[in-house]
Amino acid sequence: MLVTLKEVLKDAENNQVAVGSFNTPNLESILAVLGAAEELNVPVILMHAQVHEEIMPLDIIGPVMLEKAEKARIPVCVHLDHGESVDYIARAFKLGFTSAMYDGSLLPFEENVAKTCQVVEMAKAYGASVEAEIGTLGKRECGGADDGEGAQIYTDPEDAERFVKETGIDALACSFGTAHGLYLKEPKLDMGVLEGVRQRVSLPLVMHGGSGVSEDDYRAVIARGVRKINYYTYMAKAGGEAVREMMQRSGDQPVYFHDIFTVGMQAMKQNVKRALQVFNMQVM
Ligand SMILES: [Zn+2]
Repeated sequence: MLVTLKEVLKDAENNQVAVGSFNTPNLESILAVLGAAEELNVPVILMHAQVHEEIMPLDIIGPVMLEKAEKARIPVCVHLDHGESVDYIARAFKLGFTSAMYDGSLLPFEENVAKTCQVVEMAKAYGASVEAEIGTLGKRECGGADDGEGAQIYTDPEDAERFVKETGIDALACSFGTAHGLYLKEPKLDMGVLEGVRQRVSLPLVMHGGSGVSEDDYRAVIARGVRKINYYTYMAKAGGEAVREMMQRSGDQPVYFHDIFTVGMQAMKQNVKRALQVFNMQVM
């Protein structure tokens, strides 16, 4: 069934777990994520990132995400990830998305507040939820290696408190050491930042860049109030690598396009299932 981000995060708070949140820029990843969540009987979030518009337009994949979410046996939030323009977020709400992240993290504080307020107002008209970010992960949701480009600015707990009060958002994305895409070296998370934010902000917190974080670190951030974990790179990589192995095994034999999709989807589903098991550990 289709639910809002606010609803799904409230349950996560009650159960002291995190909801897995996955970018799904193709039908196979939608089916992989929903299949894994249904097998484990846990809620889940499907996301479309604005940066994925080039590989999959919102107008094509959005209705498919919504249709599959409505028919799912588990609560599913359909969320717009890293919306950088208010117009693009409006398109998602018009389609029926139940949540959006407005990413004004690169803007000056006051401008980020003003734009986020605009999105919060708009969301009210649709009964949708809003996530926003303070501090910056320094890199966009495009996958690839973490080449160190773009400075990371960790979330300042006092700014976070002010930002939440002034905007009325439903969830807050924090920067404390994770990054988008693949890590070149093991990520070092600053739990102190998270603890500082948690002391001042009672909202559910969001961790971006969830691929490549150790299971111990997942547990540590969940214990400190992270209720939504964005995870995509490792899932997409698992699908791609399974296809590569299949191609290598096939040698001179013919390769069919539908087999590529099937093999990729199964590998993504297993990868997502493992992630969901860790994120929902306390209730498993
Ligand atoms: Zn992100």
